Amino acid sequence: MIVGIDLGTTNSLIAYFADGEPKIIPNRLGKHLTPSVVSVDEEGNVYVGETARERMSLYPDSVAQTFKRSMGTEREYNLSGHKFKPEELSSMVLRSLKEDAEAFLGEEITEAVISVPAYFDDKRRKATKRAGELAGLKVERMISEPTAAAVAYGLYDRTKDTRFLVFDLGGGTFDVSVLELYHNILEVRAVAGDNYLGGEDFTAVMAKLFLQKSGLSLQSLSEKEQVRLYRQAEKAKCDINDTDKVTFGFLYKEETKEAEISAKEYEEACEELLMKIREPVKKSLADAGLKLSDIDEVLLIGGATRLSIVRDFLIRLFRKFPDTKLNPDETVALGAAVQAAMKERREEVKEVILTDVCSFTLGTEVVVEYEEGKFEDGRFCPIIERNTVIPASHTERLFTVRDNQDKVRVRVLQGESRFARNNLYLGELEIEVPKAPKGQESVDVTYTYDINSLLEVEVKVVSTGRSQKMIIKGQDNQMTDEEIQKRMEELAYLKIQPRDYEENRLVLLRAERMYEEALGESRKKLDHYITAFEAALKRGDHDEIMDARQDLNEVLEEEDK
Ligand code: AMP
Repeated sequence: MIVGIDLGTTNSLIAYFADGEPKIIPNRLGKHLTPSVVSVDEEGNVYVGETARERMSLYPDSVAQTFKRSMGTEREYNLSGHKFKPEELSSMVLRSLKEDAEAFLGEEITEAVISVPAYFDDKRRKATKRAGELAGLKVERMISEPTAAAVAYGLYDRTKDTRFLVFDLGGGTFDVSVLELYHNILEVRAVAGDNYLGGEDFTAVMAKLFLQKSGLSLQSLSEKEQVRLYRQAEKAKCDINDTDKVTFGFLYKEETKEAEISAKEYEEACEELLMKIREPVKKSLADAGLKLSDIDEVLLIGGATRLSIVRDFLIRLFRKFPDTKLNPDETVALGAAVQAAMKERREEVKEVILTDVCSFTLGTEVVVEYEEGKFEDGRFCPIIERNTVIPASHTERLFTVRDNQDKVRVRVLQGESRFARNNLYLGELEIEVPKAPKGQESVDVTYTYDINSLLEVEVKVVSTGRSQKMIIKGQDNQMTDEEIQKRMEELAYLKIQPRDYEENRLVLLRAERMYEEALGESRKKLDHYITAFEAALKRGDHDEIMDARQDLNEVLEEEDK
């Protein structure tokens, strides 16, 4: 069985899929959350989770936490004289989760889907994958945390295109992601956040209010007193969600100090934090080219989204109620387990198309005419570029380079070099073309690349319509021929050129009609925007198409008055 894991900054969880739904697996203490804390003693014994956290006050030099923040860096943690990299510490957490799952399910677990923040780059993703391998887990796939949340909420099952914002406020980190479900593809459009903002800051506000009311200063407290105060403040912060005032106290120099704090006072004191929260929300929307009112759904994840002042703030901001049906601590792990079930091709889950980015460029070898009549062969022409959101389908038109050329050969290559010989050869296709003067005949080469490392190459002669196809399967792809066939059928919609979508077609038709009717400057202006829109359609980048379409639409509105 493949399990789903949320390897979090503060807490980690493991989940599996059974009886048609994802479920959290309790750890050896019967709890759902395992703190992402590791401790190693002088003899090299490893402690993970709550036990490791408990060792914090007695042996602070033997404990590491929040190491997820350093994932993919060279940072080393020294625990009782032993040195560890962030991925090694993460692997200890993963191993502990794996053991708990094995004990609970009674079978060996060797594969997992692990969630990572949407902004994790290649290096940090690779480090996460290595952490899995060190723990004896083959990391079948990584899923971005906001995508996992959307999957857990079943949002991919919508028939309508939907835009949503995933608001993730944890203990010490804050992430906002804007996602879009567009033609059945779930895509992360923009991410923003603050690595040093979270529930702990709200606890600090509560502690500060308490000190003000009781006339104390933080400096006058011993370290142990500070720990005691924060523990009480943390509790009061959670309690104030349901009442209009809280009273709490803590032991200060042999006497109990007490104070009452009203919900209103607390809310006012948190105003500054709420302003800070607003920034990444604004930024992610601006990056996605959207307004607050464009968001159809708001999903809340991370423990601190239970704070009623945060919820009320979001309701005022978005003018809608956020979706909170699932436990905000568990949502990501549940989504990862659903993704694991999809990966296993379980009947109960409809396989959805989740996006990822392609980490290399796929292209073909071409001859380039660098000056009239002068050719250079062996050059590489990218078709699907690195970092393209996949699945993707792109087409490039190639022309004959010799008079009476009777066939075109397409060599399929992967790599980043400008020269074909330096890139990895994946296969080739050959197709006959009618003899004609050079440059008159052409072929459309379409690459369709899927998250399962499936590349379909199609070459079609423009003049005759004849075509040939081949499928190249990546090493880690274990699909049968039938499964591949089915997958390719599912992806067929991708090959509909963006220009064929109803709305794009309509805008172009209207633009062309107005161009015909216009004269002079108006005509020039229309031509400029139509050309830009057509270029965007050709490149096939969704965001660029939307931007160019909007620009063109604005010009059409202006000119149609
Ligand atoms: P996470 O990192 O997602 O586990 O979030 C942990 C944060 O959520 C901590 O700052 C907790 O104080 C906060 N938190 C958990 N439960 C509640 C609650 N009921 N009300 C307010 N904050 C909470």
